[in-house]
Amino acid sequence: MRIRTLALLLILAFTLPAVSLNTTDGQRRKPRPTTKIEPAKIPTPEDILGFRPGDDRKLASWNQVTEYFHKLAAASDRVKFEELGKSTMGVPFVMATISAPENLARLEEYKKIQDVLADPRKLGRNPDRQARQLIAHGKTIVLITCGIHSTEVGSYLSSMLIADRLSSSNEPEIQEILKNCIILLVPSLNPDGVDIVKNWYDKTLGTPYEGTDPPELYHKYTGHDNNRDWYAFTQVETQITVDKIHNVWHPEIVHDIHQQGAYGSRLFLPPYMKPVEPNVPKQIVEGYTGLGNWMAREMRREGFKGITTDSTYDAWSPSRAYSHYHGGVRILSETASCKIATPITVKFEELRSRGGYNPQKESANFGPLWRGGEWHLRDITRYMTTAAFLLLQHASQDREQWLRRFYTIGKQAVGSRKKGELFAFVISPQNNAQPLLNILDRAQVEVDRSRQFAVSGRTYPQGTIVVKMTQPYAAFAKALLESQKYPEMRDFSGHPIAPYDVTAHTLSLLIGVEVKPLYRGFQYTQKRVESAGGKRETFIEIHDPPRIAIYKSYVSAIDEGWTRWTLNQSGPNYASIEDKKLREGDLSAAYNTIIIPDQSPRTILNGYSPGSMPPEITGGLGPKGVKALRDFVEQGGTLVCLNRASDFAIEQFKLPLRDVVAGLAHKDFYVPGSILRIELDTANPIAAGMPKESIAWAEDSPVFGVVERKDGADKMSAFPGNTGGMPVPQIQIIARYPTDKNPLLSGWLLGGDRIKGKAALVEVTIGKGRVILFGFRPQYRGQSLATYPLFLNALSGK
Ligand SMILES: [Zn+2]
Repeated sequence: MRIRTLALLLILAFTLPAVSLNTTDGQRRKPRPTTKIEPAKIPTPEDILGFRPGDDRKLASWNQVTEYFHKLAAASDRVKFEELGKSTMGVPFVMATISAPENLARLEEYKKIQDVLADPRKLGRNPDRQARQLIAHGKTIVLITCGIHSTEVGSYLSSMLIADRLSSSNEPEIQEILKNCIILLVPSLNPDGVDIVKNWYDKTLGTPYEGTDPPELYHKYTGHDNNRDWYAFTQVETQITVDKIHNVWHPEIVHDIHQQGAYGSRLFLPPYMKPVEPNVPKQIVEGYTGLGNWMAREMRREGFKGITTDSTYDAWSPSRAYSHYHGGVRILSETASCKIATPITVKFEELRSRGGYNPQKESANFGPLWRGGEWHLRDITRYMTTAAFLLLQHASQDREQWLRRFYTIGKQAVGSRKKGELFAFVISPQNNAQPLLNILDRAQVEVDRSRQFAVSGRTYPQGTIVVKMTQPYAAFAKALLESQKYPEMRDFSGHPIAPYDVTAHTLSLLIGVEVKPLYRGFQYTQKRVESAGGKRETFIEIHDPPRIAIYKSYVSAIDEGWTRWTLNQSGPNYASIEDKKLREGDLSAAYNTIIIPDQSPRTILNGYSPGSMPPEITGGLGPKGVKALRDFVEQGGTLVCLNRASDFAIEQFKLPLRDVVAGLAHKDFYVPGSILRIELDTANPIAAGMPKESIAWAEDSPVFGVVERKDGADKMSAFPGNTGGMPVPQIQIIARYPTDKNPLLSGWLLGGDRIKGKAALVEVTIGKGRVILFGFRPQYRGQSLATYPLFLNALSGK
């Protein structure tokens, strides 16, 4: 995956300058030379239909629509047209791709840009910088969907008007749109319904039943519910749209063009009325709010009347909004209807209140007033096409912002989760889980199958499925796997306010699959395993957390780096903790074990001196850090000190130990990086499984002597600074230097007699916790593998 991404970035690095050259060239040539595009050659909708879409009492058949787009694509270098599949009743399901010719020539590159921005895990080491480059070169992807509700005929007719202007106009604003956007235009999400409605309409034309709805569902099985299928994906039209458009292009904006009743507002635009489904990212809400409000403002400026926002339609159900969980805003527009294609007359007094506004009264979310009168199909297409071109103008002018927003959504989705946040869902391995897994798979949600694992004492069987929440489309999975809490909404008189549609979409309950949430607080590793057939399968393993932190001084310490390296190779997961965080305390909430790597006690305590470095990195652990560590140990934590850091703990915690070689001149004692002999108490869990005799890498190392208690005195008083009330430390010696042998095995040791019988590894119990003091470097430069077990056992917690 990483290699493919790098390859993509390389390709882009080489090819994208060409894009900008072409673009500059395109600008210079504006308006396009008539020798290249003969206007007469571009067919108009009238040429194919025999009428202008929007004319009273005229509907186009699906054959005519596809014929128009075929001929348009053949004549225009701004239009590509393709069949994506067959509808339920077997007619072509089609899409036009419209953009500047130089963009159409590089669609694969733009798809790849979208693919990487949608899933920032595919970016390299400097993701934000690479994303900025991709954003600079990418295009806003706008999907315009028409005609899902077939009696709302304005939109499929408008699709031809939109395509006509985009393909033939040389207006500067259209050129800009074509340059900055790739427009995916679906003339109808329900092609079967086009003919069902047209046949009925033509049959009843001129009769008393003219303009009535057909006496059959306009989608073979689902009728109006075809727009409630955007998470269950039961119908072929939904499947084609998701598989071949959404998942291929990840559009930043989806403009879904609808019609509403005749007696309300002339037009609804987002923002949606509350409530918003809580898994819809806030950037999506900001996006549709900003764009919808801007479109409404511009239309009002152009003299359009009767526009409402923030009313009637909510953003609760994913059944209507696939894109809201896939990085793109859905701009629903709802224009007032006439009677199919037959004009009507509406009196002002007949206008009726609906969900959050009164069409007879101006308000913050409605206006200016539409005074009533005739309402034609042409009015509908005029509202629709005006809104669509404003949307495209915004998509073009704010191209970078749309792409940045899209990237930010992906970045947050794949980012890590904090403690206490939902980390994953676990799905039991049941036979009936497959339909749920198919749905998640279709929505590009990644699922991992596990080998047996246990979390907090609970064992999950092999085949358990884990849906991580750190992936691009986790919000989709979360919305469908958790229970909904629809807010209690009541009007002024206390009556419940009905939701726009329904309130629940918990798919695991609907299908009957046991799904459990898992919260952060365990380790998660992923393993690729070669199965018998040579097929690679991904398994996951979850363990209880080690909750280990390595202290990282602002004064960098080489042993700290080696400690991290050692654990990365063969140890448990860990976190790094710096002075500032450590001084804040409450360490036992986050960690069981804290390691202080080898560093001089003075540096650990004081860090950089004030004034020598920026103030935020001076000061070391200081008294606050010492207290935080002491509290951590007393509350049950394990503090592991390596080499010189042991002296820090002895001094600061007033441990009943003494470094017997501290302050000695080199002529009296000297061990400048040598291998010494130690004897182990293998009955101690830290030395369990080790040989009786092992080695110690000694280098400026402390050697521990136990401070004798005074006879008959209070135990506390033996330890200066231990002022009562504190628990008495208990000492266990795990390793000591031999009494009867030369401690030196290799290297140079002066004054070896001084350390005979003295301790090299000690555990001191304080309160509920313990301090483990290594008088050597057990993970020396990644070389002393003989003593790794001592180090790793010390980390394992009690
Ligand atoms: Zn509709």
